Amino acid sequence: MAIAEWRQKLQSGEVSSLELVNDQLKRIKLVDKSLHAYLQLEEDNARSVAKKIDEARSSGIDLPPLAGVPFAIKDNLCTKGVRTTCSSKMLENFIPPYESTVTKRLWNSGAVLIGKTNLDEFAMGSSTETSAFGATSNPWDLSRVPGGSSGGSAAAVASGLCMAALGSDTGGSIRQPASFCGVVGLKPTYGRVSRWGLVAFASSLDQVGPFTTNVRDAAEVLQVISGPDPLDSTCLDEPVPNFSEFLNDSIKGIRIGLIKECFNQEGISTEVKDSVLKAANQFKSLGAELVDVSCPRFNDGIATYYVIAPSEASANLARYDGVKYGFRAEDDESLTQMTSLTRANAFGSEVQRRILIGTYALSAGYFDAYYKKAQQVRTLISQDFLKCFKKVDLLLTPTSPTTAFKAGSHDNDPLSMYLSDLLTIPANLAGLPAISLPCGFDNLGLPIGLQLIGNVLGEQRLLQAAYQYEQAANVMKNCPEGNSIPR
Ligand code: GLN
Repeated sequence: MAIAEWRQKLQSGEVSSLELVNDQLKRIKLVDKSLHAYLQLEEDNARSVAKKIDEARSSGIDLPPLAGVPFAIKDNLCTKGVRTTCSSKMLENFIPPYESTVTKRLWNSGAVLIGKTNLDEFAMGSSTETSAFGATSNPWDLSRVPGGSSGGSAAAVASGLCMAALGSDTGGSIRQPASFCGVVGLKPTYGRVSRWGLVAFASSLDQVGPFTTNVRDAAEVLQVISGPDPLDSTCLDEPVPNFSEFLNDSIKGIRIGLIKECFNQEGISTEVKDSVLKAANQFKSLGAELVDVSCPRFNDGIATYYVIAPSEASANLARYDGVKYGFRAEDDESLTQMTSLTRANAFGSEVQRRILIGTYALSAGYFDAYYKKAQQVRTLISQDFLKCFKKVDLLLTPTSPTTAFKAGSHDNDPLSMYLSDLLTIPANLAGLPAISLPCGFDNLGLPIGLQLIGNVLGEQRLLQAAYQYEQAANVMKNCPEGNSIPR
């Protein structure tokens, strides 16, 4: 059910908020055994919030925009009094004493917390397999991954275990799982949304954004979570436009750039490429002008990211020392040994790998060769985008080089997993807004996602084009029969 449809049902009294919450919880119990999208449910809290909404409705009080919308929250967003684990043994018992800005804004808008969702440990991964609490499955095919790192949120939205969810995107963690699970995922402009209360991975790249079943809902959720925040100095002091305002407007005359380097790249499946090129034609028939553009440094994004992100992660994760937060290994010999054992025992191997890479890249003697170089390439990538946006309004690429892969298929080869973020990382490096939405299915019936990238603070245009495409292409209506999504 879309948010607007739900709002109408709630206001007319056709369905109460409590009924919806109970329905969701029942469904989660039925379906989530096989998916493991949720790490924990907030049943009592959800029911009591729902009751308050129902009371407000019957007494005729104006309801806030997301009243009664059941939400799933990635478990790296702090929720006051509700365990927030980052899918790590390190934070297994961590109960935040404060609420993240984005979730506070959701609750103030009437949204209902249903539960916290699974992720790759500390959001490092592309498959939700590095969670210390077990992997999440893809609802379209349980033997496959939902993508990552926000795989739990994507799977929950795809299989109707919440109406919308929040994730975080450092190198593609909203868009790639959205594409693997056949839902809409939006990474806003860096600084559009507050990071206060988001457990930091790579602070110059992290952004919070929505997962929804449709573009209009993404606009509605973005509306609520966006805007300046005195608690996050990187949050932009920019007015928030009405993101739904132009959704119905034609995209006639809008120029859409096809990045040459994304389509000629080895490793991008032909089915994915064909499906996105078909979508490009759909945009054209809606009146958009297709323009071939080049971002010569686009494919250097991965190498750049895998220096910058681990460097920032190594600094951010230094705080888990066994003293201030979370897990502490028992050892009386020395403080150093206690810290070292704590980190060796409570961080999984992918997190340890990132910390080691980052510490190395930042160390004296290597800093100039790796970290500084990566920052320089980052600037070049941003400049490539700037040049493109002189010629076009939006850029179109596939979201991910392939559809959802089999669980375990990248177990012994982290680099092959990193390649999965080839097409999403550049937007993070340049701080640009980007959205993934379904554009077709492969021959196995797995969803394919397209990515639209906008200019800085260009979310309105991005959502408008995505919405117009969604309405015209109607991809989910043409969903293959017999797929295994548990409905
Ligand atoms: N998959 C990428 C990584 O492993 C991106 C993760 C993210 O966006 N949080 O770093």
